Formats: sequence, structure tokens, C-alpha cells
Amino acid sequence: MPAVEIIAIGNELLLGDVLDTNTHWLCRQFSGRGGRVQRVAIVPDEPGAIAEALEAARRRRPDLIVLTGGLGPTSDDKTLFSVAQALGRPLELNERALAMVQATYERLAAHGLVRDAALTEERRKMACLPRGAEPLHNPVGAAPGVLLREGETAVVCLPGVPAELKGIFATSLQPLLSELFGGRVFLERVLVTDCGDESLLAPVVNRVAADHPQVYVKSRAQAYSEGVRLRITLSLSGEDVQAVQAAIEAADRDLTASLAAVGIVVLERVEGG
Ligand code: ATP
Repeated sequence: MPAVEIIAIGNELLLGDVLDTNTHWLCRQFSGRGGRVQRVAIVPDEPGAIAEALEAARRRRPDLIVLTGGLGPTSDDKTLFSVAQALGRPLELNERALAMVQATYERLAAHGLVRDAALTEERRKMACLPRGAEPLHNPVGAAPGVLLREGETAVVCLPGVPAELKGIFATSLQPLLSELFGGRVFLERVLVTDCGDESLLAPVVNRVAADHPQVYVKSRAQAYSEGVRLRITLSLSGEDVQAVQAAIEAADRDLTASLAAVGIVVLERVEGG
């Protein structure tokens, strides 16, 4: 199963000023493609902290490391500088990235959204990439994404602005995603029970999880209150859709029967969460 790590960068995230929705969104995307996000980190806009997080992630040899944030024109956007340092590559003007930045500012200027399309130092900064990097077209904003290959690991840098991150993900990142995740599938089924006490569910859930080790079986705790209907999630990813479906069905049958045996009814099933 392709392993992924995510590093979200930004002082504003650590201050609690901005909620790190990018990591949550990326986790859903990678899990949904049959990947396994094995670790996420949030670090400040400091080259030492960014480089340290990247080096630590590389040591675990995931298939993909995604960094988000800090690609913009301002002096506190230090991601590419830090990545270049951590990977021992010089930071240099990338002509393809420069053409992308230029095309974006020409479009923005034509729509009156920026004063002119001049390639100022700040705008050129967004085209300075670690040597050997491939720029990823950003259909929403100015800063291109960045793809680097380090041995078996792909390192991808995406902008912090959620719409830009999603725009790159949906377009220029697709070839890499196909290469890494291919035809893998991820299935998720949620069983809604008539039980509001997780301690009653626990022994059944634990036993079913132990007997179906390939399926992720998890009850979702909620605060005690009247009318609470606790949910149990079954999920699994794999390359063979029929085998994945069969494993989920088997765990569901076992779970439903075992819950019934202790007086708990499954009221509803929701596919895909
Ligand atoms: P730009 O190219 O637009 O300058 P950037 O890559 O430099 O983008 P940042 O400056 O790090 O990105 O962040 C821009 C804005 O995007 C932040 O002010 C914040 O509102 C939002 N943002 C950054 N990181 C995240 C995140 N992890 N989750 C949600 N929003 C984020």
C-alpha cells in the first residue's frame, strides 16, 4: 500500500489562527485512492524546522511526501529554500516555472486583477526551484507546485491556499497520482447502530477487528446523550475490488450478527462514509 507523509507549514496554523484543513483534505484524498497516510506534521515557517521534518519523513522511506504552504512571493515563504537545503540541491531559476508564473500574471493583468505582468523579484522567487524539480501548473494561483524525485520517494510541494492546492491536485498532479496509486480502490461502510454506549460495542468491535485483521474496524465515540446512535466504520483498500468488497461483506455479516447477539441493532448502512 503506498505510504504517504504530509508536512503542513505555517506559523498561522500553530497559532491557531488558521485551521489546517489542507491536511484533512489530503488525508481523505490519499486514503480514498487506497494509500496509507502514515504520519502528518505541522511545522513553523522556519527553514530548520521544515528541513528537519522533511529529513525525518525521508528516513521512513514513504512513497510520497507532500509539503503544503510557503510557496508564495513573501519573505516568510521559505519552503523551497528549506527543501533545497534538506536535499542538498541548489535553488535555481527554473525556466518552465518562470513561463508558468509569467503566463499567470499576464492573465491576471489582462483581467485587471493585478496592476501589470512585470516579472518582479518577488514573482521570480516563485520560479526558483531546487535543481532537478518539475514545476506543476497551478490553474488557480501564481506559485507552481513542485515535484522532486529522491530515490524511491516523490516529494511534492503545494501552495497553502486551499483552492490552489486542490487545483494542482486535480490537474497537474494526476499523472503522479496514477503512477503511485494506479487502480487501487478504497471502500468504506458505516454501520449506524441503536446503541449509545461505546463500552457495550467495544468487546464486539474488538473481537471482529481481531478476526478480520485486514479490515479497519472502528467505532466512533460520541458524548453520552439521549438518542445517540453510535457508528462503526469498516474500511479497506486493495488492488482487487472484488476481494475488498468480499472482505467488507464478511466483516459486516460477522459484526451485525455479533451485535444482534448482545441486543444491538444495525439501523442503517452508509456506503463511502
Ligand atoms: P501563496 O502562493 O498564495 O502565497 P503559499 O503557498 O505561500 O500561498 P501560505 O502563505 O503558507 O501559502 O498560506 C496562504 C494562506 O493559505 C494562509 O494565510 C491560509 O489562509 C491558507 N493556508 C495555508 N496553509 C493552510 C492549511 N494547511 N490549511 C488551510 N489553509 C491554509
